[in-house]
Amino acid sequence: MTTAAELYALQETDLAIDGTVASLTDVEAQLGEIEELITARERVGPCREKVEQLRNSQKGLDWEAEEVRGKASDIEKRLYAGNVRNPKELEDLQADLTSLRAQLRKREDALLEVMLELDEAETALKDAEAALEEIEASWEASQASLRATQATLKEDIEALEAKRDGQVDGMDAAALSIYQALRERWQGPAVAIVERGLCRGCRITLPMSLLQKARSGLGLVRCVNCERILLVN
Ligand SMILES: [Zn+2]
Repeated sequence: MTTAAELYALQETDLAIDGTVASLTDVEAQLGEIEELITARERVGPCREKVEQLRNSQKGLDWEAEEVRGKASDIEKRLYAGNVRNPKELEDLQADLTSLRAQLRKREDALLEVMLELDEAETALKDAEAALEEIEASWEASQASLRATQATLKEDIEALEAKRDGQVDGMDAAALSIYQALRERWQGPAVAIVERGLCRGCRITLPMSLLQKARSGLGLVRCVNCERILLVN
């Protein structure tokens, strides 16, 4: 015969399993990438692209300025070598030189602007990378701790299930099926303790005859109201 006390012990195991399974579900929901990490990673990409793009602009402008500088220096050499005597030709060369110097200034101004922008972009990239690194480090640490908790909870569930198997072994099928149906019906305890004549499941005062029957330990006695199996201590 299966007693209310045995079913109560089984219930304690079942409630422990329910609680541990809920904790495991909660932990597993936290495993994986978090929004904060994804956002931080998404910030780095465009920053890196901008730096790359500005570095290319800088190289292009450097190269262009160098080319203009070279042309101007060729004209200067010709002018100062004194070989060109034709006034028209001299005038043209002077005009070319003036135009080249103006072009050079323009490129140098543009270059300066690009360098300032690049400086800003590099700072932004460094900040974004540092933020990502920090979030990654704390995320990895928390994931490691979650995985450890997950493993512990899985072990706990296994141990509780083994304990449950042991408890169920030898119990009579009818008692178990009543217990199971009540557990499903109440989504929780199927066995209620009787305290000062009250069913702790539904707080109703139990008839004396029922209490006496429950105290006798002969067969399972159920609450007249909530129908839970009663356990008198
Ligand atoms: Zn009750």
